[in-house]
Amino acid sequence: MIDEAVGKKLMKRRKNITGALALCIILSGIAGCHARQQERPAKAEMNSQTGEDPKGEDTQSEEKPQEEPKIIVVNDVAGEVNTGHEEMPIAPEQNRMSEQTEKKDEQIDEQIDEQKTTEDFYISGITDEIFARIQGLSFKDDCTLPREDLRYLHVLHKDIDGNVHEGEMIVNVHIAEDVLEILKELYEQDYPIEKIRLVDEYGADDEASMEDNNSSCFNFRFVPRTTKVSKHGLGLAVDINTLYNPYITTVDGRINVEPSNGEPYADRDREFDYKIEKGDLCYRLFKEHGFEWGGEWKNSKDYQHFEIPSARINEWY
Ligand SMILES: [Zn+2]
Repeated sequence: MIDEAVGKKLMKRRKNITGALALCIILSGIAGCHARQQERPAKAEMNSQTGEDPKGEDTQSEEKPQEEPKIIVVNDVAGEVNTGHEEMPIAPEQNRMSEQTEKKDEQIDEQIDEQKTTEDFYISGITDEIFARIQGLSFKDDCTLPREDLRYLHVLHKDIDGNVHEGEMIVNVHIAEDVLEILKELYEQDYPIEKIRLVDEYGADDEASMEDNNSSCFNFRFVPRTTKVSKHGLGLAVDINTLYNPYITTVDGRINVEPSNGEPYADRDREFDYKIEKGDLCYRLFKEHGFEWGGEWKNSKDYQHFEIPSARINEWY
């Protein structure tokens, strides 16, 4: 705290309104009050130097040194005057406290931001509540992938108009953090994704989900005519903006486009919203996180599709 000598010195110079009014009553008619008026500018200047908020009482509280004995008596009577005296010595500390308070506020703000981020973008296990939504749908009765190998992602995403939406995606535990980071980065950089819903909302029907331009990941199934689980069946492939980035194959010399309403977007020379292109943010992020892009396949093109390479999956399964 303040040293006593400084405190006393300051006591001579400062009074609060209680002291001043009491003095005026006690010393009614004494020129002290008038004299104090003349000292106001010096006081105001001092306040501006210390950064202390000049209070109303302070502007009337100056006293001449020769009146000190009477003032001290008043001070003793009016205990709160002592509190007033402490204001000046405390001022620097108050500043420090104020800085500390600001820092605390900043920390709290950061915590709230983190909390908000955590609430918006998080990973959870497949709770009973979530499992009830996918059981018999994307998590089919013959699902060979353990429920424990799946994770639920909660994210935000923005559509082409910048509207923010909540998104849900179920992915394999091995890529949960990667996909969360990718989707968070896409959100923060305003990369448009129209819908991120569980495919179960479409009855686990991929075609229906794609026709609605939904982005999703896990949907258990075997590779047709094999006992091999597909990469979507493992939750290790992610489809983004599916309508505008269709899956194009050539069957018996005929071009097949999935979803069926995605044909206008099979022409990749055209410009349109939600189009994934080599080198764009979506492409770069998935590549950086170890995914391959179906748009770079040779025999077919799956522009919506990012998957973990088989060599890596073989390390896990
Ligand atoms: Zn896919």
